[in-house]
This record gives sequence, structure tokens and C-alpha cells, in this order.
Amino acid sequence: MKTFAVLTSGGDAPGMNAAIRSVVRTASFYECRILGIRHGYQGMIDDDVLELTPGSVGDIIQRGGTVLQTARCEAFKTPVGLAKGIATLQKHGIEGLVVIGGDGSFRGAYALAQYGIQVIGIPGTIDNDIPGTDESIGFDTAVNTAVEAIDRIRDTASSHDRTYVVEVMGHRSGAIALSVGMAAGAASILIPEEPQDPDRVLAQLNKARERGKKHPIVIVAEGAACAMDVGEFLRNHIASEVRVTVLGHIQRGGSPSARDRILGGLYGTEAVRLLLEGMTNHMVAMCGARVTAVPFTEVFDRQHEANLFYHRIADILAV
Ligand code: ADP
Repeated sequence: MKTFAVLTSGGDAPGMNAAIRSVVRTASFYECRILGIRHGYQGMIDDDVLELTPGSVGDIIQRGGTVLQTARCEAFKTPVGLAKGIATLQKHGIEGLVVIGGDGSFRGAYALAQYGIQVIGIPGTIDNDIPGTDESIGFDTAVNTAVEAIDRIRDTASSHDRTYVVEVMGHRSGAIALSVGMAAGAASILIPEEPQDPDRVLAQLNKARERGKKHPIVIVAEGAACAMDVGEFLRNHIASEVRVTVLGHIQRGGSPSARDRILGGLYGTEAVRLLLEGMTNHMVAMCGARVTAVPFTEVFDRQHEANLFYHRIADILAV
């Protein structure tokens, strides 16, 4: 009987529990023993390991966060930390590991693979900034959460004829901002992948106002600019009252969307299947509408690209 383990690492994302459930139940289906490592690589160093069964992952598919908990662990980047982690894996007879997280977490997995541990990654981050996959677990929920919040803000914006600047998450990526901007009908979207041009924002707001829009919404990706600064700039240049809202961590939590649960299910099954095939150092990925696998080296070498097509369409639809 093969023994595998699963952990979540880096920032939490809604849908990670669906992926854990999928890994555990698929492993069980193929008659493998499956262990959970709590608190990411920190738990691997600390030997914080538990046996998982199909029943133990019941009633988690709808829950945000990660029942295995997650961590950022600087010690794992050192030879001593890595050696402790490997010792834990050896102690429990773990032959293969599924790491659910971002590309940072995959670098940890890659380090383990150099010592003969089979590793497969599952992309899990709300930022959707991992090269090689169209979708990471958590992104869809984060976008929906932000859009729902902005719909509420829009009620106040329209009642008071106010301009709202809303900052969304995304780390160094504009992916959340672009999807939220499209779905919320933003007048302007600022993303880190494009140069910041205050005149462009002003021109967009003026154009929208000329055709009678009284409550435009400007979406700012956290990696592009500080929403407070954007708000201050607009206050000095437009007649309308300007308010700023930073959505923050509400975008990271909450019950995962149907899409993120389905992604978790698909990715988890594929990850275990790849381990059983003897594959290592790959990330499961969505390419078009197909689940596939991408080598970690490709994930590390490539740059995340923003969907600038969305930006152009959002600009056209704003006016
Ligand atoms: P994410 O997975 O969301 O990109 P981080 O970049 O914070 O998050 O990485 C998560 C964890 O992965 C780190 O705290 C560390 O434990 C591990 N890790 C990242 N890079 C390396 C590396 N080069 N070697 C070993 N472990 C790493």
C-alpha cells in the first residue's frame, strides 16, 4: 500500500478544503494510505501529522480556509529545516506529497523532490497569478465576494452621486481587479501590469460623466496603487464627492463558489492519479477547459500574464 500526504501552504484560499477532500477520497479509492500535514512546511518540520480517512474530510467542501491550516515557514528554506521535513516524511513512510498553494510553496516541493520525494502541486491562491494555469483555487470565490461587496457600495454611490474608489486584492497581479472590474461595471481599472496613468483615469471618468454617469466606480488592484492616493488625486481633480473602500481580507474568506469546489475536486483527483503514475515535480493545471500538468520548472521560469483583453473590453463597456 502506497503512503501519500497532503498539505496546504502559503495564503489560504476558498476551495482548498474541497481539494483536500478530493485528494483524500481519491487516494482512498485507489487503496492508498493518506496523511495530512498541518500548518504547511512548518508542520512538516514539527512532525504535525495526522491520518486522514474519507470520513474525516466530510462536511468540509463548503468551508472556506483550510482544515489542515497553513503557514509561511522561512525555516523550510534552510538546509536544516529541509532535513527535518524530510526526516518527518521518512518517519511516516510518505512516498508522495500533494502541496496545495502558490508558486512559492511549489519551490518547497521542488526542494523535497531533489531528495527523492515524489511531489505534485495544486494551484491554490485567490490571486490567480501562477504561470501555466488558467485558474487557481480561490480566485472565483474572491472575485464573486468582491463583486457582491461592490454591488452594495454601488447602492450608496448611486443614492449620493458619489465616485467610489475600491481597492481589491491580487498581490502583484491585476487578475482579480480585471475580473471584478468587468463584472461590477467599473468606469476605470488600475492594474500593476500596465503603467499607471492618472490622466487616463480622469479621461475615463469625465467621459462617463458626460454621458450622464453620476456614480462611477474605479477598481484599483492592490499591486497597482494605493486606493487612498488614487482617491486623494481624484478629489483634487473632479467635482464629485469621492470615497475610498479597501475590501481587504473579506476577499480571502467565505464559502467557496461552485467553481472553486469543482476545481478542488478535479485538481485533487488528478494530483493523486499523477502520483500513482510515478509523475513528480508537476503542477496540475487548467488549460482551456482541460485538466493537465505543467512542470514546476516551467511555472518558475514563466511570467504570469494579465488578461489585457478584459481591460480593453471593460474600457469599451464603461462608457
Ligand atoms: P505561496 O505558496 O502562496 O506563493 P510563499 O511564497 O509565501 O506562498 O511560500 C510558502 C512557503 O513555501 C514558504 O513560507 C516556505 O515555507 C516555502 N518555500 C518558498 N520558497 C521556498 C524555497 N525556495 N525553498 C524551500 N521552501 C520554500
